[in-house]
Formats: sequence, structure tokens, C-alpha cells
Amino acid sequence: MSILRRLNLPLHLRHRNHYHRRVTAAAIRHESAVWTTAPLSIVEPAAESLFHITVDLSDSPDLAASYTRAGQYLQLRVPGVTWPTFLAIASPPKLASAHGAFEFLVKSVAGSTAEALCRLRRGDTVDLSGVMGNGFDIGRIDPPEKFDTVLIFATGSGISPIRSLIESGFAADKRSDVRLYYGARNLRRMAYLDRFKDWESSGVKIVPVFSQPDDSWIGECGYVQAAFTRAKQISNPWSTVAVLCGQRQMTEEVTSILVADGVSGEKILKNF
Ligand SMILES: Cc1cc2nc3c(=O)[nH]c(=O)nc-3n(C[C@H](O)[C@H](O)[C@H](O)COP(=O)(O)OP(=O)(O)OC[C@H]3O[C@@H](n4cnc5c(N)ncnc54)[C@H](O)[C@@H]3O)c2cc1C
Repeated sequence: MSILRRLNLPLHLRHRNHYHRRVTAAAIRHESAVWTTAPLSIVEPAAESLFHITVDLSDSPDLAASYTRAGQYLQLRVPGVTWPTFLAIASPPKLASAHGAFEFLVKSVAGSTAEALCRLRRGDTVDLSGVMGNGFDIGRIDPPEKFDTVLIFATGSGISPIRSLIESGFAADKRSDVRLYYGARNLRRMAYLDRFKDWESSGVKIVPVFSQPDDSWIGECGYVQAAFTRAKQISNPWSTVAVLCGQRQMTEEVTSILVADGVSGEKILKNF
């Protein structure tokens, strides 16, 4: 099923030719979407096949301010490339309001718009749609005393909105058990290693899981759902909530495992 269909966009927005025109002026109205042209301030490797991309929104404060919740995303167009790509915003909303920037974590997939984006340089411009989606409804995992266990599952670039969630804060240090199961092919493919210390000190225990680890790796191997099944240790399913972001197979299998363990489907948050 296509991404556009999965997002339940109205039919007229699913029609792909709507996106087939180059934008020459900032924030022009294009069918039902408003596109904002903004320069890149950072394009740098984040890990193997992954890039940090920062878009400077200092001239677009309204767009920066419209990002209010971790887990929201937008569409990004690279000039001269036909199709826009969906990207989750990796940086927390407070960074957008304080520094006028959106940070992204982008996987350079051969032949994709994302690959063209990762080949751009500082100062090149891109077009951004408005901010989309409801993001993670943190209200559903509050108060921390009631939901003392938070299990987070992310794979690949799915860590991007999870970074925003963790750095936005959800009172992790007021809960007894907050775990992030973070899957990647191997250590070289794992982004945000430099943030692990800060995330851990905010109360999030990180469990890296590698599907194809190097020989020297002594931690968890395989898929995150298998690593979680080995550990589980859910003390009370009624006070357990989960947040999932990544491949569909992962989110479906983790959901099944959690539900079988008695975790309510309503307490399993997925943002897209
Ligand atoms: C909500 C959301 C958030 C995401 N966040 C991130 C993120 O933070 N980081 C990240 O790296 N990836 C993210 N992705 C994945 C990303 O959008 C792309 O799917 C990924 O880069 C792969 O690109 P693709 O071109 O191979 O696949 P797709 O985007 O699925 O496109 C498949 C193919 O369809 C064609 N196509 C694409 N769009 C159109 C169109 N409008 N009309 C006609 N044909 C079209 C193109 O030929 C394309 O190669 C996100 C996806 C979604 C849905």
C-alpha cells in the first residue's frame, strides 16, 4: 500500500501530479499545500547511509512555530526532483521555537528523493510543506505515577521522532521502568550514539539491538521484538504503555506481543 494511501490523505492529495511542479518563490500556494522554501544549514553523515539534515527556518517563524508535538512530520521537496518525501522532524519543538530550525535524520535510499536531499550542501534550498500529523499524544501516558512503565521501540530512521519525544521530555525519571529498544543493522548504522548519555540521564534505559552485529558485539542481537520477548519483565500490564516507530513488521509484531501480555491497545502509541 502506498504511503499516501496509508496516511489516509484525501483523494485529490493522493494524485501524484500535484507535486510535479518546481517552486520558485517562498511559501507559494500549490493546490491545497503551502510550500515554504528554506536553506539547509547542516548536511552531514549521522551513521552509515544516514544523514543529519538541518533546515534553517529563521525566515519562516510561522512554520517553525506550527511544530508543536514530537512525532509530527512534513513533506520535503528537493528542487528538480519530481516527488516530495515524507520526513519526521527529529528535533523537539522547543528547538524550533528557540533556534528557528528543523532537524531531520534521513536515510539515503538509492534513487529516492531522500538520496537527492542527502547530496545537497549547506546553503542549498528545499521546499517544506506545512507540519502534518497529531504527533505522540503524551497526555495518554500521563500521569507518570499511573503509567510507570514506558516501552519504546524504534528501528532505523524511526528513531527520529523518538529522539524528539525523548528530548521533549515525558517525565521518564518519574517512572520506574523506561526502556528504548533501538534496532539497527549494526553499530555503524546506529544514529544518535552521541545522545545516548543524555537520554539515559533523562531516565531512558537504551537497549541497542543489532540484526547483523560485528563479531565483537556482546549485546542484544536479532530483531527488537525478539530482544524484548527475551527480557519482557512487564511488572504490571495495566500501568504499561508503549511507543512504536519503525518498520511495519516490527510495529505489528511488538503490538501483538504487548497485547498478548495484557497491555491495552489504547496504550500503544504509533504516530504513523
Ligand atoms: C510519515 C512518514 C515519515 C517518515 N520519516 C522519515 C524520516 O524521518 N527519515 C527517513 O529517512 N525516512 C522517512 N520516511 C520514509 C521516506 O518518506 C521515504 O519513504 C523513503 O526515503 C524511501 O523513499 P522512496 O522514494 O524509496 O519510497 P517512497 O517515498 O515510498 O516512494 C516510492 C516510489 O514511488 C514514486 N513516488 C514517490 N512519491 C510519488 C508521488 N507523489 N507520485 C508518484 N510517484 C511517487 C517514486 O518513484 C518513489 O521512488 C517517512 C515516511 C513517512 C510516511
